[in-house]
Amino acid sequence: MPNYNQPLPSFEEKATSPEVKKAASAFDNLGKNKWPFFIASGIFSVGLLLFVGWLLVRTFGTPSPQAPTETTTTVSELEKEPSENLLADQEQEEGYYLFKKQEDIADFLAQYDFEELDIDEIVYQCKRKGIDFFKAGQVIQLNRYDALDNPIHFLYDLSPTETLAIDLEKVEVEVIAKALKTRLKIAGGIVKTELWKAVLDNDIHYEILEKMEKALKWTVDFYHVEPGDEFKVAYEEYVEEGMVTGTGQLLAIQFKTAGNTTKVYLVKDGAKATYFDQFGRLAKKKFLKSPVKYGRISSAYNPNRIHPVLKEKRPHFGTDYAAPEGAPVYSVGNGKIEIASRTKNNGNYIKIRHDQTFQTQYLHLQSFAKGMKNGTRVKQGEVIGYVGQTGLATGPHVCFRFWKDGQQVNHIKEKVMELNVSTTLNEEAFLATKDSINDLFGDFELRLK
Ligand SMILES: [Zn+2]
Repeated sequence: MPNYNQPLPSFEEKATSPEVKKAASAFDNLGKNKWPFFIASGIFSVGLLLFVGWLLVRTFGTPSPQAPTETTTTVSELEKEPSENLLADQEQEEGYYLFKKQEDIADFLAQYDFEELDIDEIVYQCKRKGIDFFKAGQVIQLNRYDALDNPIHFLYDLSPTETLAIDLEKVEVEVIAKALKTRLKIAGGIVKTELWKAVLDNDIHYEILEKMEKALKWTVDFYHVEPGDEFKVAYEEYVEEGMVTGTGQLLAIQFKTAGNTTKVYLVKDGAKATYFDQFGRLAKKKFLKSPVKYGRISSAYNPNRIHPVLKEKRPHFGTDYAAPEGAPVYSVGNGKIEIASRTKNNGNYIKIRHDQTFQTQYLHLQSFAKGMKNGTRVKQGEVIGYVGQTGLATGPHVCFRFWKDGQQVNHIKEKVMELNVSTTLNEEAFLATKDSINDLFGDFELRLK
């Protein structure tokens, strides 16, 4: 597995590149949340902020972690290398203390010149926050000193997201959320063997794989991803002290498979964020592409098929998705179960009515999910049963059948999967997002790794 905690490369050189300016405008256009303001202003003021921050530390000794997250959110393409940033300056100016073994809070503070009553109060306040001692292996930063060079402000690393601040001047203890920086990452890859490998090989955070699947489950058939398929992604990456600690929203995806390019953009409209395709249609469709995840089509819809078990010409009016025994089977759309039953050939099966026109059917199930019976209402993506090989089946799979006006159709050919769910589109936000993302994707060159 790649090391996700490796330090990030320097973005110094990119600071004045058109890419960064585009990144800024992309975020400007992505909606009205807190992002755009900070990015846009950040472009011109990061240098200033760093300087002012440094001044503050020098003058008042107040470190940035006490500021709310928002004020430190910035495009880190503009940041300097970790070795040159504010933290490094602090490191030279101030001391750190590593607890080699578990240490009592009072004992630790007793080595400095403090009033005993103040120490008692600090210990009491720490206890109220559930902190009884300093843990072995943790670090405390001696952050600020008084005129006699006694440390009076400490920062203790509680967790990846929280810092404990002990202020001996105010005799106050505070738990502060760490300032996570968010930046835009543009990445992509060419599939050599499998999609997940291409994601990891191209230094894309593993969380993005699932987010891609979620955003594209109506439009891209992930079971048909093949070598040579290409993708690009734009997403928010959380960075703390030069380390990538996680990912935020997946902002856009471009996916090229079987000669078709699908693009999906996250369009922000007020508090709402919704995926739309390149034509401004809701990415979410009436039906999911497939009733199973991580399966593959083992037998397509074929009216002239020779049946594998009966060895005679028997039309196949379904699409078989081979998947591991016990894997969840999902309803591809909202609807109501018409039949949850068992027959000799179908085995355990479920038939769902979605509306006047469409029904779907799921055969050879090992079992039904809890509560699935005639009349049960189901939602798109809800687990209705589990993959099995009951009835006439040669191996674990779901025979998925799609009914249109009472006739079984090949859902893949009929394009019923393209049916949209109606919604309103903020056209201005959509076009702005699309343009800026397309520019960024255009500038990003894919390389086979
Ligand atoms: Zn079948």
